Amino acid sequence: MLKTDAIIIGAGPCGLSAAIHLQRIGLDVLLIEKGSIVNSIHRYPTHQTFFSSSMKLSIGNIPFITAKDKPQRNDALVYYRTVAELEQLTINSDETVLSVEKTNNVFHLRTDKAEYEAPYVVAATGYYDQPNRLEAVGADLPHVHHYFKEAHPYFQKNVVVIGGKNSAVDAALELERAGANVTVVYRGSSYSPSVKPWILPGFESLVNNGKIRMIFQASVDEITSESVRIRSGAGIDVIPSDAVFAMIGYHPDYNLLGSMGIQLEQDSGCPIFNEETMETSVEGLYIAGVIAAGNNANSIFIENGRHHGEAIAYSISEKMKAKC
Ligand code: FAD
Ligand code: NAP
Repeated sequence: MLKTDAIIIGAGPCGLSAAIHLQRIGLDVLLIEKGSIVNSIHRYPTHQTFFSSSMKLSIGNIPFITAKDKPQRNDALVYYRTVAELEQLTINSDETVLSVEKTNNVFHLRTDKAEYEAPYVVAATGYYDQPNRLEAVGADLPHVHHYFKEAHPYFQKNVVVIGGKNSAVDAALELERAGANVTVVYRGSSYSPSVKPWILPGFESLVNNGKIRMIFQASVDEITSESVRIRSGAGIDVIPSDAVFAMIGYHPDYNLLGSMGIQLEQDSGCPIFNEETMETSVEGLYIAGVIAAGNNANSIFIENGRHHGEAIAYSISEKMKAKC
């Protein structure tokens, strides 16, 4: 059994930020990460450009300087690795936390490799590993993807993109540039206000010029290896399709959070926590990053989730003072 002062589950940007702030109040901190450091960013589309400026993605007051205002995925990978080195963070990567139980005011964590004990735990597990499920026949076929990496393999292929926010629009744009025949199927009646304003005009222009087919108020009935059958105001349409990108969002791992004793609001999927301290109803158990937003991926980002660590460090330091 390994003992430490605080364990952070998940080495995403918000988990790393929390680790830095807890170290700065003198705690021994261990990050446990099931993949590699900033695993979600590693799994982004290869050529992803952030919508945030680099300074808004910086953590621990360590400047993130890039030649262009908005960094790319690889700039962020370099930056977060550098921060982890500079701050001498202890990260157990490729290790998955399976359970967290509290007895006698101490948390017992079991992973697929070891067991740990700590009086404070921060869950910063994000949402990116749990794609939302598409309720359609054929949704589990192997050519239906929930992650988009690169467009090159889809040159001259028929591709259907499902969804209407940033991942869907970004994927459609990249696919069109690479010579794919792209149809976007969206359940909304008009473009979502969540789509970044500097992306939308280019996308709309491709739609207006017939380069991308956009179908609003449409739902997917069935996917086969050759087509996607949709239902919209215009009736039923069968769209030829070699690949489908269901860019319909992601959600936190509710089973893991619930098993730790974190209470969740039924509709929003939001954990119940104190917004000033980020502490949950389980004393000593905190949350950081996008999991605080539940099912709404468009309210907490790195930009604001990076500050959760400061609140957690303040709360823990107050508890430690009270114990002295
Ligand atoms: P994550 O980065 O998801 O980190 C969670 C970590 O926990 C992961 O590394 C995961 O492997 C690990 N983990 C999960 N379960 C376990 C477990 N059981 N045991 C151990 N480890 C576990 N936000 C912005 O602010 N600006 C942007 O420009 C921006 N661009 C984006 C572009 C794309 C394509 C996407 C998909 C998202 C973008 N976001 C952006 C959102 C941003 O990625 C998330 O807000 C950010 O990753 C959240 O950080 P986090 O630390 O809360 O979670
Ligand atoms: P998202 O914002 O959650 O959007 C999901 C989309 O899928 C929405 O249009 C939603 O419809 C639709 N949808 C959800 N469930 C559906 C279902 N069952 N059937 C059909 N459609 C469904 O997910 P995302 O676009 O992947 O974005 C995730 C996060 O990454 C966000 O924080 C986003 O800002 C970020 N991101 C950033 C960039 C960038 O920086 N350039 C790029 C991509 C993503 P409604 O519109 O009706 O809700």
